[in-house]
Amino acid sequence: MLDLESATREWLDKDDRYLWHSMASYGAGKEPLVITGAEGSWVTDARGNRYLDAMSGLWCVNVGYGREELAKAAYEQMKSLAYYPLTQSHVPAIKLAEKLCEWLEGDYVIFFSNSGSEANEAAFKIARQYQEQIGERNRYKFVSRYRAYHGSSMGALAATGQAQRKYKYEPLASGFLHVRPPDGYRKPDGQSEEDFNLACAQAIEDVIVWEGVETVAGVIMEPAITGGGVIVPHPSYMKRVEDICRKHGVLLIIDEVICGFGRSGRKFGHHNFGVKPDIVTMAKGLTSGYLPLSATAVRKDIYEKFRDQQSYSHFRHVNTFGGNPAACAVALANLEVMEKEQLVDRSRLLGERLADEMAEWVSHPYIGDIRSFGFLMGIELVSDKATKDPAPLALVNRIISSCKAQGLIIGKNGDTVAGFNNVLTLSPPLASTDEDVAFLVRTLKSVLQDVVADAR
Ligand code: PLP
Repeated sequence: MLDLESATREWLDKDDRYLWHSMASYGAGKEPLVITGAEGSWVTDARGNRYLDAMSGLWCVNVGYGREELAKAAYEQMKSLAYYPLTQSHVPAIKLAEKLCEWLEGDYVIFFSNSGSEANEAAFKIARQYQEQIGERNRYKFVSRYRAYHGSSMGALAATGQAQRKYKYEPLASGFLHVRPPDGYRKPDGQSEEDFNLACAQAIEDVIVWEGVETVAGVIMEPAITGGGVIVPHPSYMKRVEDICRKHGVLLIIDEVICGFGRSGRKFGHHNFGVKPDIVTMAKGLTSGYLPLSATAVRKDIYEKFRDQQSYSHFRHVNTFGGNPAACAVALANLEVMEKEQLVDRSRLLGERLADEMAEWVSHPYIGDIRSFGFLMGIELVSDKATKDPAPLALVNRIISSCKAQGLIIGKNGDTVAGFNNVLTLSPPLASTDEDVAFLVRTLKSVLQDVVADAR
């Protein structure tokens, strides 16, 4: 144990010296976990402590850790063809593109990149170019929602509606507009959930009209806002947004980076709402995070407008590593595991179980609302249930650290949503066992119980 401790100290010293972390600043007594291994839903740190990873890394390890099939697929593919760019073609990319169309249940063509941000950047460029090439030369704007996250690059961050992620990096790409998300928990008193959601959809149409219909290229949204606090719309919302987009010639871009690949209890989040997006972006669960890969699926007839061989009408966008053969082989193996083990159905089942287990906790003095979308949950903490004042970040952090001390990793909606950094998030591997879910529920309940006891 002592050896593990001194080895850990050494790693942490070097980490402190050489490594710049995402979304966190360590030092002054704050240390990252140094993760050395993982199996199923559990990760192990350099000290030998085990944690149930109820965030699947960053919402991505859908099939769980330690899958040999995925490692073998990468190994075999790297031996036969480690790399070739998709300026030409290769078999793993062809097979995966076909498979993704089957999963999407629609007529799409697939452009590969490496990350969710890049998939969204490609979507914005495709949407603008398409509009230009069908004669809609002034359509360059995109409508998005406050609280949404769409990525870290200058366009995807511009689409993001979280002020504190953008602060100090502006000006970002221009032409991105934001409207209120359908946050039903904070709807006006007396209005039904559905009416409030339809009013939020109407806000999108209002912006399109007020900005000038002829200037708007697309609307981008996740099926449910995930990282921004798990905001799940009423079923009527998305359908109304689709109708608005169709009416005004605006492309509907659905960001499935988190909601895709079974997370929502269906293959893709938008399948819950019966809409047919023009463009679908995906990443994370596509390879369960085993290798970097993302995709932008574009409706076939939109793609056809890039094929007429006139000068510069093709998509002038290259991605050196996008669609790397090993990453595509891993994605295919990942989808095969999901199909063989019926993980989409399992996600729905475990999501329902988790929701049932947690339902009565909405009476907890600090819990304002509990929302779920498949096997994804947000627990909104408030300091006053009557006024719905968001709980302070210190309380959110205390719950997260207490869970960690008891071997459970849970998440929160960043420190990035101005005024509303008060949602605990859960997004466990879809292949979690019954025992994993029981441990998660038991630990979380015990921590929440302690928080109340401490306050008395
Ligand atoms: N879109 C959504 C909904 C996301 O949650 C994320 C990342 O968390 C992204 C896009 C960006 O993905 P990446 O970090 O792979 O660039």
